[in-house]
This record gives sequence, structure tokens and C-alpha cells, in this order.
Amino acid sequence: MSIALYPGSFDPLTNGHIDILKRACTVFEKVILGIITNPNKTPFFSLEERKKIITSVIEEISLENRVIVDSFDGLMVNYAKKKNIRVVIRGLRAVSDFEYELALSMMNKRLYSELETIFLMTASEYSFISSNLVKEVFKYGGDIKNYVHPIVFEEMQKKIK
Ligand code: ADP
Repeated sequence: MSIALYPGSFDPLTNGHIDILKRACTVFEKVILGIITNPNKTPFFSLEERKKIITSVIEEISLENRVIVDSFDGLMVNYAKKKNIRVVIRGLRAVSDFEYELALSMMNKRLYSELETIFLMTASEYSFISSNLVKEVFKYGGDIKNYVHPIVFEEMQKKIK
């Protein structure tokens, strides 16, 4: 069975992430959405909240038979090795993503030689969306409805009430 890992912070999940996830599902039978937990960063949504929200969104977009939501800390390659995953998916928005992603994929290849990184290009309408930008705009009261799923939007609003 073809399986791939889509790792990220997903804090919060944006429509850009959903776009990449849907594309990944056209290529792979199963996709593990792996939430990276970074103990040094205070997230907007806790890990448990992110898991719950992402699971609900995945059900809403009818991908629950294709996508598994999981989380890991530490090195992504260690998680991939443990799960016997050989493909990692990364999304590319713009040229600015490329340099970092190239270095990351090269480092990962040295750490785990059987691992391949596959880059999927985002649709142009999502190419400027990032979790950080969404959080920033939301913090100052800007409208972010077009950039996140309604479930995510509702949960973000609950946070500030
Ligand atoms: P990280 O914290 O590692 O940047 P993110 O959750 O922001 O993780 O992103 C996870 C993956 O999704 C990365 O490969 C990133 O390039 C990709 N990504 C994020 N936003 C978008 C978007 N709008 N369109 C396409 N890919 C995206």
C-alpha cells in the first residue's frame, strides 16, 4: 500500500494545507498527517485541540478513510522510520519556500537514505497563506474566513471569547 507522511505544525490548519492534503490523496492510498509538537513554542491551539479540529475537518471533506491524524515530537525521520514510511510530502508555495525545503530534504535524506521528499505545488489562490499570517491577521481582527475551513474558523473564534 502506498503511504506518505505530511508533516507540519498545522497551527492552525489552513486551506493551503487542505489543498496539499487533497492532492496527496490523489497520489497515495493513505496519508498520515503528522502534527509536529515543539515543546519550545507556545501554540495557538494545543496538540489535543489541533488533533480534534483536524479530525473533524477531514471527516467534513470525506477523507477519513484516506487520512490518519497522528503527532510526533523529535526528528521527523525517526517517526518515519518507526512507521516504515518512505515518502514525505511537503507543500511549496513560492520560491521563498524552496531554499529551506531543499536544505531540509537533503538533511533528511542523509539521516534516512530511503526517504524521498515529494513536493506538491499549491493552487495559486493559496500560495500566500501561512498559519502564521492567518494567526496574525486574526489577532488584529482581520477577516480570515476565506483562508481556513469553517470548523477551524469557529474554533479560533471560541479561543478569543
Ligand atoms: P511548518 O511549521 O513546518 O512550516 P506548516 O504547518 O506551516 O509547517 O506547513 C506544513 C507543510 O505545509 C509545509 O510543507 C508547508 O510548506 C506546507 N504549506 C503550508 N501552507 C501552505 C499553503 N498555503 N499552500 C501549500 N502548502 C502549504
